[in-house]
Amino acid sequence: MQKKITLTEAEIPESWYNIVADMPNKPLPPLHPGTHEPIGPEMLMPLFPMELIKQEVTSDKWVGIPDEVREIYKIWRPTPMFRATGFEKLLGTSAKIYYKYEGVSPAGSHKPNTAVPQAYYNKQEGVKRITTETGAGQWGSALSFACQMFGIECDVYMVKASYEGKPYRKIMMNTWGANVYPSPSERTQAGRSILAKDPNSPGSLGIAISEAVELAMQADDTKYALGSVLNHVLMHQTVIGLEAIKQLEKAGDFPDIVVAPFGGGSNFAGIAFPFLRYNLEEGKSIRCIAAEPASCPKLTRGVFRYDLGDTVGMTPLLPMYTLGHNFIPAPIHAGGLRYHGAGAIVSQLLNDGLIEAQSFKQLECFDAGIKFAQSEGIIPAPEATHAIATVIKEAQRAKEEGTSPTILFNLCGHGHFDMGAYEQYLSGKLVEHEVTQDEILASLAELDTPLITNS
Ligand SMILES: *Cc1c(COP(=O)(O)O)cnc(C)c1O
Repeated sequence: MQKKITLTEAEIPESWYNIVADMPNKPLPPLHPGTHEPIGPEMLMPLFPMELIKQEVTSDKWVGIPDEVREIYKIWRPTPMFRATGFEKLLGTSAKIYYKYEGVSPAGSHKPNTAVPQAYYNKQEGVKRITTETGAGQWGSALSFACQMFGIECDVYMVKASYEGKPYRKIMMNTWGANVYPSPSERTQAGRSILAKDPNSPGSLGIAISEAVELAMQADDTKYALGSVLNHVLMHQTVIGLEAIKQLEKAGDFPDIVVAPFGGGSNFAGIAFPFLRYNLEEGKSIRCIAAEPASCPKLTRGVFRYDLGDTVGMTPLLPMYTLGHNFIPAPIHAGGLRYHGAGAIVSQLLNDGLIEAQSFKQLECFDAGIKFAQSEGIIPAPEATHAIATVIKEAQRAKEEGTSPTILFNLCGHGHFDMGAYEQYLSGKLVEHEVTQDEILASLAELDTPLITNS
């Protein structure tokens, strides 16, 4: 049996797949945060280059990948796929388990798949500087790398708690030439207003987004980039699933279940949407499962309604499964995936019953990650361990039901910068955590945004 399934450079996809073309119910439009009226593409022009705005709203099924982007993709793409023979043996499962490994990129995750085209289109349209936010540092490093490839300045607002706790991610960004600021900062109105209320604020993704967006709005030669949630970001990630289809074909297999961890939805979309196409077009019934933390469970315990993408209210309202834009996961949660909401496309698919979601507590996730590292060798990013926990659960279910499904999951990154979290787990300091219903209800009670009624 072949363990590693590779492709040639010529097999890097030539187009991204846009699932909007095949969705039975299209995602609802973004709304103006003040008037609650649908916004036109022109509202996004201060933030994004025109080509990305077009991609955000297009319903074309395929969007060509520029040659310049494919050239840079060749540094790490096509990424390998593995049959998880060691892991299967450890689990004693009759399921066949495959994983696509995105940790081979320069930044160590799937995020450069969209950072590179985003930097490219900004460069094409004369943008000199890109601002962004980062939590754990994965997106900030991916964008720093991509901006360096095209000679663009990159300013990263890094959640203060991570800035202080993960110095090596910051240095990685500096190495690629980016400026990194702890958020909340004194550099923006948004940051100053948060600091006035709480000088010791540890920051959050929502606050850092407000800062980066504010700065991009102020200067003509500066734009903003987001590493997840938005339609164009999800579409760029479909190179993962499109390659995976070819690799499984080579292995003579096809998945019954596709699994990925879920933060804002980009790596899930990346691996799952090209397979969902078979469900939507050909009536196949592949189960696509998004795996999220019990500490930030927007898909399994949030509500589907309009909410802000940030904390201060600089972004449009998006239709999403959300825990409320003020929701901040408990600091003891170590597994990432801390964003309060989900992208509009993924939210619509979940609402329509076309995808599934499961949540896992952190000890189960780290236990799964260590089992995986010890049987397959690769140390997964804490985010990815949510997918591995899901795979273990599905393998268990298969055993009970006497079935032998083929399971594919996205190993979206390595955990080399997350040894702090592994250290906590291995030394027994990591405690179990699940958000309470009262905490969720309190956060949702702060929302005054429009509800979505199912037509
Ligand atoms: C950013 C990130 C995630 C979460 O974001 P998605 O948009 O949901 O993919 C998950 N895993 C890794 C390794 C990441 O860097």
